[in-house]
Parts: sequence; structure tokens; C-alpha cells
Amino acid sequence: MFELFENELNSLDTILDQVKKDSLGFLENLADRPTYVADQRIRPANLSEGGMGALGSLEAFKTHFDKLMVASPGPRYWGFVTGGATPAAIAGDWLTAVYDQNTQTTQGEGDVSAIVEQETIRLLRQLLYLPDDFNGGFVTGATMSNFTGLAVARQWAGERSGRDISREGVNGDMVVMAATPHSSVLKSLSMLGLGSSNMLRIETLDGREAMDLADFEKKLADNRDRPIVVNCSAGTVNTVDFDDIQAIVALKKRYDFWLHIDAAFGGFAACHPYYRHLLNGWEQADSITIDCHKWMNVPYDSAVSFVRKAHSRLQVSTFQNSNAPYLGDPSENFSYLNFLPENSRRFRALPAWFSLTAYGRNGFEWIVQNSIARAQELGNYIETSGHFELLAPVRLNVVCFRLKNEVEKMPEFLKKVNCRGKIFMTPTSLSGTSAVRAAFVNYRTGKDDIQVAISEMEEVLQVL
Ligand SMILES: *Cc1c(COP(=O)(O)O)cnc(C)c1O
Repeated sequence: MFELFENELNSLDTILDQVKKDSLGFLENLADRPTYVADQRIRPANLSEGGMGALGSLEAFKTHFDKLMVASPGPRYWGFVTGGATPAAIAGDWLTAVYDQNTQTTQGEGDVSAIVEQETIRLLRQLLYLPDDFNGGFVTGATMSNFTGLAVARQWAGERSGRDISREGVNGDMVVMAATPHSSVLKSLSMLGLGSSNMLRIETLDGREAMDLADFEKKLADNRDRPIVVNCSAGTVNTVDFDDIQAIVALKKRYDFWLHIDAAFGGFAACHPYYRHLLNGWEQADSITIDCHKWMNVPYDSAVSFVRKAHSRLQVSTFQNSNAPYLGDPSENFSYLNFLPENSRRFRALPAWFSLTAYGRNGFEWIVQNSIARAQELGNYIETSGHFELLAPVRLNVVCFRLKNEVEKMPEFLKKVNCRGKIFMTPTSLSGTSAVRAAFVNYRTGKDDIQVAISEMEEVLQVL
């Protein structure tokens, strides 16, 4: 063996020990690490001839990059919808790299990782109270999960017009509609050749992001002669609004449409008895998107795509890896290769399996409750402060607000708050006004963190 690799294997113990020490250094000091780094320049280096070995690279990483890494898995990183990484999830993610399986078939040919993936899906379904009516598999994120659901929907719509889209290409006959779709749904329409600007917008209820059911039914009736795909939001990113799933499902009896539910983070509300009703009816969906790297606190990249088993044939015709005859009949030999966009896949289920088995129903119920409590605390402050105003009631785990006066100073306010490095929030726009959103997803976030945020915001107000 090449000497460098021989040395590496001989010092594996030292390498992993050092990685463990450095990891602890990062994780134990997360609350003090800045959530923002102003100077993000890195010095490009040339590829070396000899290589410095893993320990050398670790040193170089610490010297050059570590100080630039923000505390995104920390308790006060409230931008986007950023989850944390629980100890069990980190353990699972580490072992995913160590075991390095290519997770494909459940037929016992090769490794068993696909069987463990299906077991993980079963546990996740139990957590979320979803029936055994769905094929489930891991993808990189909710974007790919939305893509997967909509790709099978496209195949379904094609079949309605006598067209096998995966073989013959799109013909633009179908209609896709939604009220407040996530940007990734539009991106998926672009990737699918359906065109992001062809989304038919359903009107929203007054002051809400949820669809107006009267307008929805009208659009269903108007488009009766075309295959219809409906994207339903179960938790919008700005105000965590939910479309009325039960009412939408009821309309499925009278109108023929594919129902895709984007429940990227909102789906986890199902594991809390008090919020479960928001997802009532979702077991009737044709496809569902769930992100694990958000409210489940599994490291990036982890999401699940659920597609109704009744659509297995369509799912296989969408994703069949048809140039590989050695795979056999895809409907008999279940392989993720023929059910999801990617071919080679890492054992992405393992961190989720570790989390589900390590923390159980109570653990996830607690995370949901804790995030909602924190959002309510910040929301209460915003409502009573005099300086700020809520742009929507705090429905679940996101607080969307702005300055009460001097609204034009919003970008400057947020920039100043973020630059101080104690909390991180992201800008958004809601009904045409610029706003700030704070998303509570991380299990580490406590009451004290809300107090830190309040002091930070008040200090920035002094210098605005
Ligand atoms: C985050 C999110 C997405 C996109 O998810 P990624 O994991 O970033 O790909 C889609 N839909 C909703 C509702 C989301 O919150």
C-alpha cells in the first residue's frame, strides 16, 4: 500500500481521538461561538504534491476555517429553519461515514442498510401517526423530497393524458396550483420542465398564508378537463400557516387531483397531541415531504419523501434506472435505485434511526413543545415592547415581526443585530413589507437565549 495510506491506517486511533477532542471543543462552546462572521475570505491554496495526512489537514482546518464557522447548530441561530444535531444524531452521522454503505435494495443482496432504512421509515411513520400506505425513502432535503413527489405527480398527470412523460417528455398539459408554495416547490417545477411561472396561485384567506377554499374549489372546477396537481403547505416558513388539509382531502371525493403536502418542518407538529390536528387528513395525501434536518435535529442533509404505495408503479416509471438490466424487475425487487432520484446513496437513514431510537416519542414531543414555548416568549416580548410589531400571530415555532416605526430601517436593524454575532435571524417579506423571522427548531434553545436576544435587539435600537 502507498505509504501515506499505510501510515493513515496505522494512526487511525490518534486521528479519530483528535477529531473527537476537536468536536468536543466545538460542541461544548457552541453557546459562546459567534452566529456571524464578518470576514469570510479564505486564502486559496494549491493542491500539494505530497499531502499532509489527516492530522495535518485537521490542523489546517483548525488554523484557517474553524474560526470562520458560525454556531449554526447552536441555541441562537434562528435563521432559515435551522435544526441542531442531537448527540445520537451525530453518532449516527459519524457511523454513516464509517460504515459507508451504498443503500439500495431490500432483497438481501449485499448489505442490509436499505432494510434499516425501511425500519427507520416505519419508526418515523409511528412518530408522525402516518399509516403504512406510503413508500418512504431518504433524500438530501425537502427540496429533493418536493421534487420527488412532484415528479411522480407529473408522471400521474401524463398518464391521465395518455402520455408516459418519463419516456416521452412533458407536453405542458397539466396544471399545478398552490397558495403559498415554498421556493423549493417552484424550483422543483423548473427542474421538472413544468416551468416555475406556470404555477396557478390559489388566493389566500385575509391576513393568512393558507389557501382560500372557495377560490381553490373554483380553480378545481375551472380546470376539470386537465390533470391537476395541488401543492399544500403544512407549515409555511414565514408564519407557519397550514392549509386546511381535511377540507382539501374532502374535495378529493369530487375532483380528481394529486395532493402533495409540503410538511418539511410543520409535519413534526403531528408528534404533539395539542398540535396534531393541524395534520388531520394528511394520511390521504398522494405524496408528503418531511425534513429531518429541521425540527428533528438530525444534521444536514436529511429528508424523507413519502409517496403512496398505490402509486408504486408510477413512482418506478418515474425513477426507474432503466439502462441497468441487472437490477431485475423493479416492482418485484424493491430497490431505492428505482424509487428515488439518486442512484448511489449514503446510509442517510442512520442518523435518523439513532435519533428515533435514542429519544422516542417523548423526546420529539419535548423538542416541539420547547420550540413553541420559546417562540411564544419572543412573540410576547414583541407584542408588548412598543418598538416592534408582529406580522402574524405566533402560530407555532416562527416569529415574524418588524419595527413598528421607521420600517425603512428594517434591513439596517437586522444587519446590526446579526453582525453582533449573538443571534442570527433572516430577512423576509410578507405581504409586501420587509420583516424579520426567527425560527425556533433547535433543542438547545432555552429561556435565557430569548433574554439574550431581547437585550441585543434593545441595544441595537439605541444605535439605530
Ligand atoms: C426548508 C423547507 C423546504 C426546503 O427544504 P431543504 O431541506 O432546504 O431542501 C421546503 N419546504 C418547506 C416548507 C421548508 O420549510
